[in-house]
Amino acid sequence: VIEIRDLHKSYGALEVLKGVDITAPAGHVVSMIGSSGSGKSTLLRCCNLLEDSQQGEVLFEGEPVAWKGTGLNRRPADPKQVTRIRTNLAMVFQQFNLWAHMTILQNVMEAPVTVLGRPRAEVEAKARKYLDKVGIGDKADAWPAQLSGGQQQRAAIARALCMEPRALLFDEPTSALDPELEQEVVRVIKDLAEEGRTMIIVTHDMRMAHDVADHVVFLHKGLIEEQGPPAELFGNPKSERLRQFLSHSA
Ligand code: ATP
Ligand code: MG
Repeated sequence: VIEIRDLHKSYGALEVLKGVDITAPAGHVVSMIGSSGSGKSTLLRCCNLLEDSQQGEVLFEGEPVAWKGTGLNRRPADPKQVTRIRTNLAMVFQQFNLWAHMTILQNVMEAPVTVLGRPRAEVEAKARKYLDKVGIGDKADAWPAQLSGGQQQRAAIARALCMEPRALLFDEPTSALDPELEQEVVRVIKDLAEEGRTMIIVTHDMRMAHDVADHVVFLHKGLIEEQGPPAELFGNPKSERLRQFLSHSA
């Protein structure tokens, strides 16, 4: 369960999040849509201790994701918590950020071995399992540069899964991809949704937002403008802003 309560976040004078509440119950998928600059990435980053906030809180399975100190001294409350939160709440980015000097298999194995200290043999078996799951088992020994964008993103998803996280955060996982490659990543994300994984997915792909989600949130200028079940939000949008947004992002 990820609970975001009354979250406020500013960068200097720029108020990016103005009091956002979102709950992603265990096994549920929340899609987040909204214009560029509405605060979607910032919100995900606050969940994962990549960003601090000024007011409100984020709870992950009841545990506050906390910061302490002020100004330049502000930092995550407990370094162990950083590892715990990032292990359990894996994030997949638009730019897949694979390590270029490691093979795909090494990329997927790296964090479980070095961060979690799991035995290599056990991690390798898992890594191969997840590479198979995302459909690139045959690419284990390739270098990232030898893969298509869609394959690299699937490798990044396998890397996140290999940490065996309790929830996943996706920040525009398909927007760096050509449309035909996009669909293979969407397929993987749909499978994860069907398995009942807890996920928050920020996406510009309205079809994916509709198809995978139990609940859709439309963020506008740092506030939730409208939210609801996908059929309702897309089929019968109530706010004028959402109607406009949807008409521009067909
Ligand atoms: P997009 O759809 O383009 O990815 P977004 O909804 O993810 O947009 P954010 O990246 O969360 O938007 O950014 C929200 C606002 O915060 C923007 O105005 C952005 O310029 C600003 N912002 C983001 N990161 C920083 C930062 N590190 N320092 C200052 N301002 C920032
Ligand atoms: Mg963003």
